[in-house]
Amino acid sequence: MRKTIVAGNWKMNASKESVNSLINGILSGMSDVSSDVIVCAPFPYLSQVEALIINSDLMLGAQNLNVNSKGAFTGEVSAEMIKDFGAQHVLVGHSERRSLYGETSTIVAEKTKAAVDAGLTPILCVGESFEERESGNTEAVVEEQLNAVVGLLGIEAFNGIIVAYEPVWAIGTGLTATPEQAQSVHLFIRNLLAGSSESIAQNTPILYGGSMNAGNAADLISCSDIDGGLIGGAALKAEDFLQICKAG
Ligand code: PEP
Repeated sequence: MRKTIVAGNWKMNASKESVNSLINGILSGMSDVSSDVIVCAPFPYLSQVEALIINSDLMLGAQNLNVNSKGAFTGEVSAEMIKDFGAQHVLVGHSERRSLYGETSTIVAEKTKAAVDAGLTPILCVGESFEERESGNTEAVVEEQLNAVVGLLGIEAFNGIIVAYEPVWAIGTGLTATPEQAQSVHLFIRNLLAGSSESIAQNTPILYGGSMNAGNAADLISCSDIDGGLIGGAALKAEDFLQICKAG
């Protein structure tokens, strides 16, 4: 039985003041939440969140990492540094990193490996663009993105990886995938993993991301292969985020 996981991706939205009120708001409603809950904060706020969530069930994640563990990489942040702030998770392969910062599937696989090697749990984002869906290439795109990681790390690594299916056309657009559209790709992903290991496929959490909100979360999460959500916009309001956390 897979546990529901809800992860918030704050992207580049935070201030010391907003982080305080958002985390305190989430913490105040956590007693009614049975899902695992993760917040992925921008680097400068990891320390603040670490202090605020101490002794709570809330978990911390980062939004990116460098593949190297240390050295002359000005402006970069390593998996070890992320761990140093009590984070257990890190997003890899978010579509904004793939499209805006040129992260290929090879780079994403290397980042996934750096996270796993350091003992972090990567949240590996995959998903097709609008054009790719329209041209019938959704499964091919997702397969290529996943295979890059399976090829570099091996299927066993998926014991410590969370997958997030995020159709690019649904991210930040208000155009949520229907439960049927999402479930179909989630099942495709699970079957793809099952091609290498049935038991790992059954145990791998696959989250949906793309304009999930308090109103549509329950319908999506109730699908048999949707194990929770990766939430952008709606993760910035404690009440909305908590409602999604309770939908699982
Ligand atoms: C995301 O950034 O991963 C995301 C899913 O954003 P939104 O919920 O705003 O679509």
